[in-house]
Amino acid sequence: MQYISTRGKDLTVTASQVIVQGLAHDGGLYVPEFFPQIPYEKVEQMACMSYQSIAAELIGCYLTEFLEQELTDMTSAAYGEQFDTNEIAPLVQIDAKESVLELYHGPTLAFKDMALQLLPHLMRSSMEKNGIQQKVLILVATSGDTGKAALEGFRDVENVDIAVYYPKEGVSPAQKLQMLTQEGNNVYVFGVDGDFDDTQTGVKRIFSDPAMQEKLAQKGCRLSSANSMNWGRLVSQIVYYFYSYAQLRKHNRISSGEKVNFVVPSGNFGNILAGYYAKKMGLPIHKLICASNRNNVLTDFFQKGEYNRNRAFYQTSSPSMDILISSNLERLLFEITERDSEKVALWMQSLQQSGAYQITPGMQEIVQDSFYADWCNDKEVLDTIREVWMNFGYLMDTHTAVAQHVYEQYYARTQDPAKTVIVSTASPYKFASHVLQALQPETDISQDDEFNVVRKLSEATSTAIPRAIQELQGKPILHQVHCAPNEMEDTLLEQLKI
Ligand SMILES: *Cc1c(COP(=O)(O)O)cnc(C)c1O
Repeated sequence: MQYISTRGKDLTVTASQVIVQGLAHDGGLYVPEFFPQIPYEKVEQMACMSYQSIAAELIGCYLTEFLEQELTDMTSAAYGEQFDTNEIAPLVQIDAKESVLELYHGPTLAFKDMALQLLPHLMRSSMEKNGIQQKVLILVATSGDTGKAALEGFRDVENVDIAVYYPKEGVSPAQKLQMLTQEGNNVYVFGVDGDFDDTQTGVKRIFSDPAMQEKLAQKGCRLSSANSMNWGRLVSQIVYYFYSYAQLRKHNRISSGEKVNFVVPSGNFGNILAGYYAKKMGLPIHKLICASNRNNVLTDFFQKGEYNRNRAFYQTSSPSMDILISSNLERLLFEITERDSEKVALWMQSLQQSGAYQITPGMQEIVQDSFYADWCNDKEVLDTIREVWMNFGYLMDTHTAVAQHVYEQYYARTQDPAKTVIVSTASPYKFASHVLQALQPETDISQDDEFNVVRKLSEATSTAIPRAIQELQGKPILHQVHCAPNEMEDTLLEQLKI
């Protein structure tokens, strides 16, 4: 299996090169040359397979340079004891038509672990396969969850340093604490005085700055990325779409070949894109429902065919989705144009120059065939958390509640009877104050620290505080550096002592 760039100018490259490199040289994103087809009998067999084995098998279809044994070892290590359940990604039934796929049982309590527990293994092996002796410096811009998950995945990995930039006031208290207390002798954490888009733009600038690369090269160091533009992350996200479908079959919740919907709370468009790829590989998916918060740029794209980032940016109760530039959408555009890289390059140029681009009505029809999109405001998020708790005794976080609300709207409008999986992306304990406020609006938590809020949430719901939150208490703050968006390069060089 070889890889090509969505902008068409790069040569075909291997999976291991794609993983080390992150972004294509022409500014585009790497995609596989074709989508392997998984016969439906194989999907049925997955009902009796472990998460780790399904992962090794599906990822092996794309990473053909990796030996079967190597993939088995890597997926066993990535999806092991660090998850708080053997199921890895439990599927919880809510009612006759709806289930929730919990992707937050990894060490950092967000779905980013599903990919970032595996990526360090893929990265190390890819470096070996390409004879790379240099140190790799992983740069990450995070809206909250990627940062911690990447730090945890790459801490103390040999020959790797990792630097994470986060918007200083744009993440939840638990997310911030998780990053500021990160241990490991190869980790750097920087707060940026700006929003996520400033942060992401700054990191992209470092990647495209030849002077930076030269300085790093002199120190025997090369850059790589661990964000969702890296194919190594996307490929591991395809797995849980197959896994959850197989679980539905196993428990006879669907008949053979029955199509299901997935509702995905979306930001950078990585998670739901992996679902689209699963569909292209033959998984019976009816609709992929793209759920946004008030930063509803994706909703407008799917409903009107125009992507326009010239709009106000809002801080919401689902901060991991506070994004106006959904980078992975480029990969969807590539597919809906039947892989027309010139068209994609023109749209991306227009996005960079004017902040917007428009697809044709014909293409809009094609995307609406697979996708439905809508959004939800913060009040609806709180109402949804409360109603789901009262009606079903199920506790969900703010991001998952965005998906739940959008699904309820979708169902009211379409009466679509298809069984539906809500993709749950974070533990409610990561956003405890919003969740507690939803359940007990009268409780005053303005004087409480994060741990008091967490305890109150646990008492109010009789649910257990996750280990990863308990362990945060009392940990020393190890990272205090912050900078303006235009100081991100200098801060990095200073801290790396280059
Ligand atoms: C990252 C994240 C999302 C958005 O996922 P994308 O792949 O960027 O669309 C949603 N919810 C949570 C909790 C996240 O951490």
